[in-house]
This record gives sequence, structure tokens and C-alpha cells, in this order.
Amino acid sequence: MDISIVIPFLNEEESLKELNDWIVNVMQSNRFLYEIIYVDDGSSDNSWNIIEDIVKDNKNVKGIQFRRNYGKSAALNTAFEQAEGNVVITMDADLQDSPDEIPALYKMIIEDGHDLVSGWKKKRHDPINKRWPSKVYNSMNRLITGIKLHDMNCGLKAYRKDVIKTIEVYGEMHRFVPVIAKWAGFRKIGEKVVQHSKRKFGKSKFGMDRYRKGILDLISIIFVSRFGKRPMHLFGTLGFFLFFIGFGIAGYLAYAKFFLMEYKMTERPLFYFGLLCMIVGSQLFLTGFIAEMISRSSYDRNVYHISKKIGITN
Ligand code: UDP
Ligand code: MG
Repeated sequence: MDISIVIPFLNEEESLKELNDWIVNVMQSNRFLYEIIYVDDGSSDNSWNIIEDIVKDNKNVKGIQFRRNYGKSAALNTAFEQAEGNVVITMDADLQDSPDEIPALYKMIIEDGHDLVSGWKKKRHDPINKRWPSKVYNSMNRLITGIKLHDMNCGLKAYRKDVIKTIEVYGEMHRFVPVIAKWAGFRKIGEKVVQHSKRKFGKSKFGMDRYRKGILDLISIIFVSRFGKRPMHLFGTLGFFLFFIGFGIAGYLAYAKFFLMEYKMTERPLFYFGLLCMIVGSQLFLTGFIAEMISRSSYDRNVYHISKKIGITN
């Protein structure tokens, strides 16, 4: 199979039929062997019935329904487990992304050898209160992750099959799939300017809160990927450093007391600072120990992905 198209949706009853017809049209005119996987992320409107009707008429269409709303990441992850196409394309269900982009995205993966291609909504049709924060947010992302994408959170993306079978998208990490892919060792990450339209029906399912969550998720993803498997390297270093400062201060104060005959040490601000450093330092150290023990017993302590083997028969 050439292409799997993955579409997570939450209450998008007005768009689904039109979107599906459009995709099928593009697939047929390019003669792709394809499947479309819809994931209903707990819709309370008529969306699922529409999917059932579509599936009845077209055997290339598949549907998965969540019992409740689990979020876009969970929806993507489930569909990724199912997908069989050599290229997997994700898109939003609200008709903001154009299916006409699919053939070019496909080509960038198959012919140009990209592992992942992210859409870039260069000319964006969203309200200004969404565009500006998004710009700031994306430049911060570029700076921290080192991935040169203008629009990390674009719903329209294409992946080589390997990528989606290797990575896991959990929590609200759908915003950072390129980061997850990069850390899994997929380095050829590209970008394509894509058409973007106004939302035709309904309203955005994510509020302004997305930026607060996004920043926190970015911090945790950085932390987990760098230090998740060796937490002591972070906590131990910090803890040791702080403790050392505190110990130095205590040493100096003791010296001042006994040799310089300074008294009333406990009235000096430095005393409290030294004390604080030692306490916080040892706590960081202990945190490192505990984190180390947790990561030792975690199920993925030894998960790695092999891309090729040679000369090995079993
Ligand atoms: N969506 C989803 N689960 C959620 C929220 C959103 O599956 O909990 C879907 C939504 O139906 C749409 C896509 O994710 O297909 C992008 O959502 P939306 O268009 O609201 O986001 P925006 O365009 O504002 O980034
Ligand atoms: Mg949208």
C-alpha cells in the first residue's frame, strides 16, 4: 500500500463528507493504493455516523472510535499502530489542510528520501491572536530543539512508515512529533509550504491554553529525552555543585569563627545561604538517586530500535 491517511477528529460532522470526497478524488486521480483511517476522539455529535456511512461505500476507509475524548496524540498513536502504507500522512479534519498537498508530500518521502515532512502554513488563515503567539512559540522551539521547522505543530505531515512504527505519541506530544522522531534517530526532516484555509465550520478545539501546555511539554520532552535514562547526571551534577558551595561557605564560616574570632555566625546572611545550599544540594542528590531507581525498573530501560542488521541470521 502506498499511502495511509490518518485523520483524528472531534466533533467535525460538517466537514467529514466533503473532506473524504476530496481525499478520495486526489487518491484516484494519482492512482495511489491507499487507506484512510479516521479516529473519532470522543465526538458527541453526528460525526461517527457519517464515518460509518463512508466506510460502507468505500473499503479503503477505516474508522476507530474512542469511548471518550483522549486527545489528538492518543488518536494519532492508535492510527499509527494500524497504518499499513509506506507513507503515512496526518491531517486535520476541519478542511483547513488541503488534500491536494498529498502527492507532493508523498514524493518528498519516496523520491527525496525524507523521513518526515512537516507542513508549513506560511500564509495562515487564523485569527491574529493565534498567529503571533505561534510565531514566538515556534522560534523558541527551533532554538531549544535545534530542528529548523517554521511550523512544528502543523496538522499536515508526512512520515516514512518506519518513523511512525518506531515512535510513540503520548500525552499531548502531538505538537512535538518531529522532536520525538529526531531523537529516535530520524534525521532527514523536511518542510513544505502548504495551503491553509479558514476553518469552515465550528471552532478550534484547542484554546489559548495550548501555549502554556506546549511550553511545559517542551520542557518535559527535553528533560526526558536528555536525562530520562540517566537522571543522576542532571540531579547529581546540580546537587553536588550546590552542596559544594554550601560546604565551602560553612568551612569559611567555621574558619572565621575559630581563627578570626568572629562571633554571631548565625546572624550572617551567608550562614543561611550556605545552609540552604547544602540542604537543597543533598535533596537534589537524593532526587537523582530515586529517579535513577525508577528508570532502572521502567519497562523501556532497554528499548532501542535497530534499523538494519548484517551478517546476523537469527
Ligand atoms: N482534535 C482531536 N481531539 C481533540 C482536539 C482536536 O482529534 O481533543 C482534532 C480536530 O477535530 C481537528 C484537529 O484535531 O481535526 C485539529 O484541531 P483544531 O482544528 O481544533 O486545531 P487548530 O486548527 O486550532 O490548531
Ligand atoms: Mg484547525
